[in-house]
Parts: sequence; C-alpha cells; structure tokens
Amino acid sequence: MTTKYIFFTGGVVSSVGKGVTAAALGQLLKERGFKVAVQKLDPYINVDPGTMSPYQHGEVFVLDDGAETDLDLGHYERFIDVRLSRACNVTTGQVYAEVIGKERHGDYLGGTIQVIPQITNEIKRRIGAVAKSTKAEIVLVEVGGTVGDIESLPFLEALRQLRSDLGRDNTLYIHVTWLPYIGATGELKTKPTQHSVRELRSIGISPDVIIARSDYPVKDDLLEKIALFCDVEKRAVIPMPTTPVLYEVPLLLEKANIADFILERFKLETQHKPDWTEWSQLVQEVRREKPIVDVALVGKYVELQDAYMSVREALKHAALHLGVELKIHWVHSAELEKERGWDELKKVAGIIVPGGFGGRGIEGKIQAARFARTENIPYFGLCLGMQLMVVEFARFALEDEEANSTEFDRATPHPVIDLMPDQRQINEMGGTMRLGLYPCHLQPGTIAAKAYNTEMVEERHRHRFEFNNEYRTKLGEKGMCFSGLSPDGRLVEIVELVNHPFMLGTQFHPEFLSRPNRPHPLFTAFVQTVCTRAGVETHSLHQTT
Ligand code: GLN
Repeated sequence: MTTKYIFFTGGVVSSVGKGVTAAALGQLLKERGFKVAVQKLDPYINVDPGTMSPYQHGEVFVLDDGAETDLDLGHYERFIDVRLSRACNVTTGQVYAEVIGKERHGDYLGGTIQVIPQITNEIKRRIGAVAKSTKAEIVLVEVGGTVGDIESLPFLEALRQLRSDLGRDNTLYIHVTWLPYIGATGELKTKPTQHSVRELRSIGISPDVIIARSDYPVKDDLLEKIALFCDVEKRAVIPMPTTPVLYEVPLLLEKANIADFILERFKLETQHKPDWTEWSQLVQEVRREKPIVDVALVGKYVELQDAYMSVREALKHAALHLGVELKIHWVHSAELEKERGWDELKKVAGIIVPGGFGGRGIEGKIQAARFARTENIPYFGLCLGMQLMVVEFARFALEDEEANSTEFDRATPHPVIDLMPDQRQINEMGGTMRLGLYPCHLQPGTIAAKAYNTEMVEERHRHRFEFNNEYRTKLGEKGMCFSGLSPDGRLVEIVELVNHPFMLGTQFHPEFLSRPNRPHPLFTAFVQTVCTRAGVETHSLHQTT
C-alpha cells in the first residue's frame, strides 16, 4: 500500500496538546489495523533536545536506539504502544548539519544551496525515511510550534510540496487550534482560528481537518461557523474540550468519527473494528474514586513538571493498575538543604528521586535518600537517583561523609560513582552519553528479579557516570545488593538494599518503557510497597505478563 501521510500543524497558541492529539489519532488508526508511525519535526536549531535545559524543553525522551528526543515521542509511544526510532524526531539543526556537510563534501557540484529546494528536499527525505525504517502504512507528522513562526516555514513549505509530490489521496492536513473563552460575555471565539487558517493558506496549505481545542464544550453553531469560514467540511471540524483524563483523548476523537473521515479521504477500508473495551476500562478506572497514597518526587526541576513527564506517567500507570491514586508531592531538593520541605517529605509513604545533571540540590537528594533508608520508607532512584542512593549508603557504610560521585566532587576520597572509562576522552556534549537500550541480567531472588519475574531485561539509558566497581565488595558486605548487572558482569545496572522494604535504584530509566495498560514492573513493585506502608489495600486491574 502507498504510504499515507497525516500532517499536524498548530494554530493560535502552542501547548494545546497537539502531540497528545496526534498520538491519540495514531492509536485510532492502529486500532483499525494499520501500521502507524509518528514523527515530530522541531523547528529549533539544536540538533536534539539532549543539550537543552529541562526548564526550556521539559523532559528528554530516550528511544531504544539512543536518540534523545522531544517529550511528545513519549506520548506517541505510550498511546500507540510502539517503539520509535531516531528517524522520528527531526530538528532544523539536523537538517542544516546534513546539507552543510554535503556542501562541504562537494556533493552539490557547485550549486548554490538554498532553503528551497535543498533544505526542503532534506526535510522531505527525512519524512520519507520514517516509512522506510518502520514499514508504517500511515505516518503522522507533527510540526512543533505554531503557524506563523519564522523557524517553521521551511517545514511547512516541505509539507506543502508533499501534497503535489504524493497526491491528495495520500496526504491530509490537520490544523490543531485553540478557541479562547471570553469571561465577560461567556463565549468561545473562533476569530484566532480563522486568522491562523488564513496564515496557513498563505503558505499554500489548506487544512482538511480542524481540531478545535478549548476549555469549554464547543456548540454546534460554532463548529458550523469554523467550517464555513475555514472552508472545511462540517464533519471535519472536531471539537476537543480539555479533559482532566489524558487517556480519554482517543475516546473523544473516536466519538467524533474522525478516523472514518480520514480513511474515507485516503480511500482505505478499516482492517478490523476498533476494540476500546480495555482502554475505556482504564479511563473509567482513572475517574473512579480511589484511596489516595502520598509519594514525594525529589528533584530540582520540580517547578516544571513536564521535566518529569515519563516518571509521572509511569507512577500513574502503576497506581492505576493497583487501584490507588497517587498524590505526588513535588519537593525541591535544594529546599531540603535549607531545612525546608521536610514537613512534606515526612508525610509521604514513598520517595522517588529521578534523573538529573549538575551539582545544584545534590546534597538535598542525598539527605532524602538517608531519610528513606533510616526510616524504612520505600525509595526508588532513577539514574541519578540510583547514584545518590549509592553515595548516601557509602557515606554510612564507609563512615565517611565525603564519599561522592566525581560528577560533584572530583577530589572525593571515595569516588563510589565515577565517569565511565569510555566517557573520559569525550569533549563533545551532544549525543555522547551512554544512550539507549542495553541488556541487564537480574540476580535471582532479588527484589528486582521478583518484580520483573525474568532473568534478562533490556532498558533505556542516558548517563556518563557509573558505579565504581572498586566498592562492590565493601558496600556488598554492608548490605547493598547488586541485583542487575550487564551480561558481562562489569556494569552495575540495579542496586538494592537488603535490610529495607524497598530501597532500589536503577542506572537506566525504566519510566520510558511504562505503558498505561502495561505498567513497568519496578514501578508497580515500588507503588505496591508504598501502599503496604500506607496501609492501603490494592487490587490488580490487568494481568501482568
Ligand atoms: N548525571 C548522571 C550521569 O551522567 C545521571 C544522569 C541521569 O540521571 N540521566 O551519569
């Protein structure tokens, strides 16, 4: 079958959930039997978000192949339940780097290099590469930002050209806009949508579908108005009111019959009837009133929760599976150092310390780990959270408060976490960490092995530092167990404490592989122990595999 392309552009304002909408629509098509892939085109000049501050960009989502990508790829993977590849996130930086590289190599044989056609051709090549590498039948392509941004123009021009390259039956443009609510008159306004569609038209793209996001229900006459002014069929104007339940979005799109409209336009027959039983059950479970359990997430980017998107989702998935509601207390680790935030920490039944870089707030996280260890509070450390759990334990076991990671103290007498040998020669910052999927062998009888219920797992990594093997015996004798190792036994991937209900840290990021209907086993094990501590009964929503 010829590959079909759905292009998503954004209008009016950003952050209205274009990524979630694309992900949910992908799920609708997958449910109908099509092989789907999703690609994000990011107009910024960085080669990838790996070098950006989480304050700027939110979380960096890591794929199997080690690509450091936009957090929307996390939505795509979670909704559609796919594993995406490096080809699925393209930035202006990558496009220009490629074209300039070829130019320096002499590949353009003396030609003048311009945005049209060289840059747009490279963008189109990269859009085509997704179908080639994933064998997807339908590729959804989301352009970051909103129409009207200077940076996104070459991408939009490439999308415009693709309609004539591939034909009307194989391309579809969806414009996701925002209807602002005017409090004084109590109405939703369509004018900004009209303007942004006009802007899109001036670039040569006429949207086939408009998804109208709003905080309030959208009445029929408003949909008619949008259809009329924007020259879109009425049934192709889809209202999408804000829902507190993220995973309800596919069900709302389903109700709006958008998938059938798209398949009709593509001249495709549904392969099989979508079955939403399990997903609806999940949404119902989110809505059900459940016992609340308190956990703290101790991080340094807590003002911007998007920085911990996958961790938050993975916690939710596990809680949902166990029939409880987690209340996450966002505790700033630098505050703990100033004796603030402890009242909050003392209230919770579990502590999670996620990944991070740089020295700020490190001692606060170590103090949180100490509190968890000495008070027997369930603790789950992810990457940096694992490394700091090791530092804290080493300070206790070696009776030396100067034990540290060399990331934070190069001169520490006990470098229990140290730079990986193959990282020593690296000077470039971008894309040079230990990245992506690596196998991990689980030691039988450990908490980790019991949780996974298998011997070998593969998890996604993003780090430069590692456990220093010179301390394995010393810390092992004092009660630290190395429950996950690389198959050659050299790298410590999971640590846990023997005399503690659940104090476990992973060098990898399990949060990236959690799915709403398939929570990650370590998150489930953590939340289960948290519930036990809180005295809250749990039940199982789905069968775990
Ligand atoms: N900064 C640590 C390292 O590079 C941890 C990284 C992380 O948490 N992703 O090893």
